Amino acid sequence: MEHVKKPDWLKISIGTNARYTETKRIVDTHKLHTICSSGRCPNLGECWGKGTATFMIGGAICTRSCKFCNTQTGKPLPLDPEEPMRVAESIRLMKLNHAVITSVDRDDLPDLGASHWAKTLTTIRKVNPDITLEALIPDFQGRQELIAQVTDTRPEILSHNMETVRRLTPLVRSVARYDNSLAVIRQIAESGVTAKSGIMVGLGETPDEVEETMDDLIANGCKILTIGQYLQPTRKHYPVHEYVTPEQFARYREIGEKKGFAKVESGPLVRSSYHAEKHLLK
Ligand code: SF4
Ligand code: SF4
Repeated sequence: MEHVKKPDWLKISIGTNARYTETKRIVDTHKLHTICSSGRCPNLGECWGKGTATFMIGGAICTRSCKFCNTQTGKPLPLDPEEPMRVAESIRLMKLNHAVITSVDRDDLPDLGASHWAKTLTTIRKVNPDITLEALIPDFQGRQELIAQVTDTRPEILSHNMETVRRLTPLVRSVARYDNSLAVIRQIAESGVTAKSGIMVGLGETPDEVEETMDDLIANGCKILTIGQYLQPTRKHYPVHEYVTPEQFARYREIGEKKGFAKVESGPLVRSSYHAEKHLLK
């Protein structure tokens, strides 16, 4: 497909300030992985400049290889038992009020990384008693007993991204199934924890398909939705089919709010963890 030129509204300048430098120092010293840098997030300057970062646990290598994702894939290293404490300590040093945690997929482990997830969330709470937490989890292959290990830790928000509409799921996601992801959302909602999800647009979906995904999420109890522009991390990744206009993003927000989401964050630079602290429902 022909190369689609990046529009002006996606051009950002990465300013750095003292808080950015401090956040980077803490992330580097504690050998932490963040989705901010591995995902080449366009908001890195803004978020790190405010002391916000999204920590990626379970190592830096994912067992899956989604066509839109820049995370390294392959055979992961064994889990680091010190990682939960390192993340918890870094959050304390960064003086965060709200932290977002995500992970690579660990299909290589017997529990797919669920107990490491639970240990990380409980350690963060122990070290930072006033923290509010968002956990962005994988599908755990739909295994309910593993998802329950995470819901049992009661994060304020538990997210699982649909990533795209039903039709494009097999083309861009690896292993994950659309209906499995909806079932993860349903289990989160039924556990009483606030359920959140996110999709990227510009992958070739139609507005009707985006609405269908909104309907599916609402029907399964999802309360918060993020919609952002897909950006191709490298030329080897899935191509951008379209740069969705800011006006269309605004329409998606209105439609989502009308359909019943408590919060919809929709804009070209929105990522699932962008302005995450504003998604707390209380
Ligand atoms: Fe990191 Fe999320 Fe901010 Fe991007 S939007 S820099 S991933 S916290
Ligand atoms: Fe990336 Fe897919 Fe792995 Fe998630 S499961 S880290 S989107 S390759």
